[in-house]
Amino acid sequence: AIKGAGRSGYKIFQHEMEAATRARHALESDLRAALANGELELHYQPIVDSNSGTVVSCEALLRWRHPVSGYIPPSEFIPVAEDTGLIVQLGNWVLNEACREARRWPQSVSVAVNMSPRQFSDPQLAFHVIGALTRSGLPAHRLELEITESVTLGATHKIVETIDNLRQLGIRLSIDDFGTGYSSLSSLRNFAFDKLKIDRSFVSDLDKKAESTAIIRAIVGMGRSIGMAIVVEGVETETQLTILRAEGCDLIQGYIFSRPIAAPQIRAMLAAAEPLTKLAS
Ligand code: C2E
Ligand code: MG
Ligand code: MG
Ligand code: MG
Repeated sequence: AIKGAGRSGYKIFQHEMEAATRARHALESDLRAALANGELELHYQPIVDSNSGTVVSCEALLRWRHPVSGYIPPSEFIPVAEDTGLIVQLGNWVLNEACREARRWPQSVSVAVNMSPRQFSDPQLAFHVIGALTRSGLPAHRLELEITESVTLGATHKIVETIDNLRQLGIRLSIDDFGTGYSSLSSLRNFAFDKLKIDRSFVSDLDKKAESTAIIRAIVGMGRSIGMAIVVEGVETETQLTILRAEGCDLIQGYIFSRPIAAPQIRAMLAAAEPLTKLAS
């Protein structure tokens, strides 16, 4: 009996595995189509100097409106795109689109683009980045590339060289989701970043845990001493904002100022050139 149960348990497991694989394949082929059918869109979220309320840059964030399933969040389709390698094509689309959009913004505003580890193993990366700048006419210093520690983790000599070359062109480099990976500190030693983005997870319990404030204070001190600007992501409440400002975190990204919004809206916001005030909470 036990044997039988084991076998049927295995069967169920196998069915689930097959179903999951099918779903993934479906998502993959839909994603390929999405690129061709214009179902992908970039939304932009302002990064604000909290002292003046000025928008210094906007992060481009991918949005997918599936014709049948509706909105699919990046946390669901980016991993699939990464596994299948489709992320390289997708990433190039994002680069071009983000640069083209940012060209229409005031010159003081940069655009931040998320980069996947896979894009860095593409030998054509520098070529694609330069192409996006040239086609759009966006100056290199207005493009920021956000990378996570996973890029730096297994970085080969070739990747280090590519990153150096991009920085020499004037492109800025940010380390994203800082503090969530395994080797945050060693990535800082091996790469020159312009900005450090403190992960949202350090912010959510800021008003409850004294440790979180201490950790943020330490990151800010360390970041400053090696010449990096500090951005804090995921700031939602006035209390969080007050604490962060007291700690000297000037650059803030979060729902407290604005959610990611569509291109025409961000354009209007930037054109109004009025300092952003906190949204009513
Ligand atoms: P990320 O790069 O860390 O982007 C910040 C995420 O935090 C965004 O989620 C943003 O909407 C969210 N966020 C910002 N402020 C707040 C806040 O105050 N509260 C809360 N709860 N969330 C906030 P989103 O847009 O869902 O993107 C998730 C992740 O997907 C991104 O994390 C990034 O890793 C990835 N991603 C998005 N677009 C792209 C892309 O074009 N290329 C690549 N490779 N990855 C992308
Ligand atoms: Mg990011
Ligand atoms: Mg992040
Ligand atoms: Mg994140």
